[in-house]
Amino acid sequence: MPSFVTHLESALDGTRLPAGVPQTLHKDRPLWVRYDLAAVKRAVSRDEIAAREATLWKYRELLPYADSKNVVSLGETMTPLVACPRLGARFGLTNLWVKDESRLPTGSFKSRGLAMAVTMAAQFGLRRLAIPTAGNAGGALAAYAARAGIEAFVFMPDDTPAINQYECHLAGAKTFLVPGLITDCGRIVREGRERMGWFDVSTLKEPYRIEGKKTMGLEMAEQMNWRLPDVILYPTGGGTGLIGMWKAFDELVELGWLNDTQRPRMVAVQSDGCAPIVRAFDGGQRFAEPFAGAATIASGIRVPAAVGDFMILDAVRASGGRAVAVEEARLREWMALGVRSEGLAICPETAACVGALEKLAAENWLKPDEHVVIFNTGAAQKYPEAMQADLPRISNPANIDWDRIEQGQSS
Ligand SMILES: *Cc1c(COP(=O)(O)O)cnc(C)c1O
Repeated sequence: MPSFVTHLESALDGTRLPAGVPQTLHKDRPLWVRYDLAAVKRAVSRDEIAAREATLWKYRELLPYADSKNVVSLGETMTPLVACPRLGARFGLTNLWVKDESRLPTGSFKSRGLAMAVTMAAQFGLRRLAIPTAGNAGGALAAYAARAGIEAFVFMPDDTPAINQYECHLAGAKTFLVPGLITDCGRIVREGRERMGWFDVSTLKEPYRIEGKKTMGLEMAEQMNWRLPDVILYPTGGGTGLIGMWKAFDELVELGWLNDTQRPRMVAVQSDGCAPIVRAFDGGQRFAEPFAGAATIASGIRVPAAVGDFMILDAVRASGGRAVAVEEARLREWMALGVRSEGLAICPETAACVGALEKLAAENWLKPDEHVVIFNTGAAQKYPEAMQADLPRISNPANIDWDRIEQGQSS
C-alpha cells in the first residue's frame, strides 16, 4: 500500500518539510501532514472505505504510515454515536448525540493519536519515546509502546488521577510524578532529549497524533451518512482533537465526499479553572497567554499553555463557533447528570461540555432542533477521585429498615 503523504507543512508559515524522516516543530510551532488528495480520490471511494472493517485504520489512504506491517494496534474500533434524548431534553434540545470515545483501548480517545504516533515511530525505527501528560496520553503511550516493544518515559503532575499513574507503570513505562503542571513535565522531556536520546511525542510536537485524532471527524461523517452536525462541543486542552477534526472536514470537502459541505460550529469548552483558549478568544488574540494557577478536576483539559493555540483559535473562528468556560465548581454535578441521564460513562472533561450545553441553550445560541454532538473523550471509570461518593450502609442486615432503603439512606 502506498502512502499518499506528499510533505509536512508548518502551520505557522507554510514552510514545506520532508515527511520521510522524524520531524518535530518548525519555529517552535506544529506541522501539518499533507496528502495528494487527488490521488486518494482516484485510489478509493467513500463507499469502499465505509465497507471496510470498522477500525480507525479503514481510513488508511488519509493516514501517514507507509506499510500495514508497521501498524501498532490494540483494536481501535469505531466508537458509537449515541442519541441522547433524555440529556438533550434537560436543555430543550431534541437532537443531541454523544460520540463515546471511552470505548477505545486505555479508555480514552488518546489512543487514536498515540496509535498513530507510535506506528510512525516504529516506521522510523525510533526506540525510545517520552511524553509529558495530564494523564490519559501517558496511559495510551505506555500501552502502545508496550505493544510495539518500544521504551517509554512518562512524566505527569503528582496529582494526576491515580489510575493514570498506575496504568502507565503497569504497562512498563518508566513513569515519574512531577511537582507542578504538564508544562513543567514538558520542560523535563525537552531538557532530556539529547542526554536521554528520546523522541518527544508531546501533544502536537510531532505531526502524527493529529492524524490519529482526525479519524474522529472522518468516522463521525461516515456515521452520519457523509454529513456533519450543526454544532460540535469539544473539551479542549492541547486541542489536538478539535484541530484534527477541522482538518478532517477540510480533507473531506476537498475529496468531494460530503453530501452537504456545511461545516459545524466548533465550540472549544474549558473549565474556568483553566481557560487560556477562552481568554484569547474573548480577547480577540490569535495566541493564548499561559493561564496562571491552572486547577481543574478535568485533568485532560488542565493545559495552561498549548503549542497549537492558534490552530484551535483559527478553527473555532473559521467555523463561526465559540470558546466557552464553565464553572469548575459544577463539573461533578454535570458529570452525574450526564451519566444518570443516559448511562454513558462521561468523564469530567465531557462534563464541562454538558455545562456548555446548559449555558449555550440558555443563551439560545443552540437552537432546539439543531444537531449537536459532544465528545465523551474518556471513561468516567478512569477518575475515581471525581466519582467518589459516600454510599449508604446497612449496619444490621438482620433487621432492615425498608423505609430508609426506599429513601436511599443508611440504616
Ligand atoms: C487529553 C484529553 C482531553 C483534551 O484533548 P485535546 O485534544 O488535547 O484538547 C479531553 N478529555 C480527555 C479525557 C483527555 O484525556
